[in-house]
Amino acid sequence: MKIEQVSVTVFKTTSNTVHDTDGHTHPGPEHDSTNAMLTITTDDGHSGYAFGQPESLRPYVLENFIKKVFLGEDPMDREKLWQALARWQRGSGANLTDRTLAVAEMALWDLAGRKLETPVWKLLGGYRDSVPAYGSTMCGDEMKDGLATPEDYGKFAEWMVNRGYRAIKLHTWMPPVSWAPSVKMDIKACAAVREAVGPDFPLMLDANHWYSRTEAFELGKGIQELGYYWFEEPMDEHSTESYRWLAANLEIPILGPEYAYGKFHTRAEWIATKACDISRVGVADVGGIGPSMKIAHLAESFNMDCEIHGGGAGNLAVLGAIHNARWYERGLLHPFVDFDEVPEYLNSPIDPMDDDGNIPLPTRPGLGEDINFGYIADNVISTH
Ligand code: MG
Repeated sequence: MKIEQVSVTVFKTTSNTVHDTDGHTHPGPEHDSTNAMLTITTDDGHSGYAFGQPESLRPYVLENFIKKVFLGEDPMDREKLWQALARWQRGSGANLTDRTLAVAEMALWDLAGRKLETPVWKLLGGYRDSVPAYGSTMCGDEMKDGLATPEDYGKFAEWMVNRGYRAIKLHTWMPPVSWAPSVKMDIKACAAVREAVGPDFPLMLDANHWYSRTEAFELGKGIQELGYYWFEEPMDEHSTESYRWLAANLEIPILGPEYAYGKFHTRAEWIATKACDISRVGVADVGGIGPSMKIAHLAESFNMDCEIHGGGAGNLAVLGAIHNARWYERGLLHPFVDFDEVPEYLNSPIDPMDDDGNIPLPTRPGLGEDINFGYIADNVISTH
């Protein structure tokens, strides 16, 4: 079996969220948006699919890197192909990102699963067939009845508990919110949510990512007293030493790194230097499912949990195959957004949640996405 064709379909979708000048997501007016599907096809008629941002799969990247590495190769040689792409990143002029690696590698996994008629999480070595979810809020805003006040967070937390979520993570206010960031307001929001959900419900905080050490310490102490379960990314993660200092000075578990570059190497540094108590990996952040598994296993070797950043098919596959992660991150959630609405390019959601807050692992072969190929065909913007 050889890879015969690699192509990208860019298509129109509809979105009701917008991004602010820091890149954070908020509710917005309904508008046209775009998505891209990478398709890998073999000489014996098998295909694999993965979705990504059109910019990560633009023609230059497809032609100069993915096609050059993939065409003519056996798609089952995932590690070989991934290593070839990862080695090319250094000399790619920053054009070949971890995100691109992730989408390309996920399409290989999807192809393998479809060919073998097995879900990817089973191919990885299944551990569980469902995973509890935590509700992950959008960042705070200045919208009336949105997430503008500590009381708004408290009210929304009550809704999330009623919906079935098994834990809640707050993203509090960050610039460009006019008065943000504010340690005092972050603590007030965390206190309002603790008040709303009671003393035993697991809560986590992911605050402004550019606090100083003293601000991060003050905030960490505040949520530690409120019985929060983890403290995530309050400072720039490229300073491992700052996190080592924070972890040494607080009792609350520090989780990370999430966005720091360097894949498993960076996670190893954080664990080795005691900069975190819980490791962190997202398939899109570290270049795919394979590197995510390496990191989860690395953490497991230190009796450390490795919580998974973000949702979607790839992250769900990893969660189905590891035991040292407690939750699936479901979101981002906001009072004005119906997260259960199915995206037009899928026939059903990848992460439906029952009333007890559990997400079943997909039973479809491959990554398990229920792709609406008809919608995509009807809404093509370009192919390359
Ligand atoms: Mg985060």
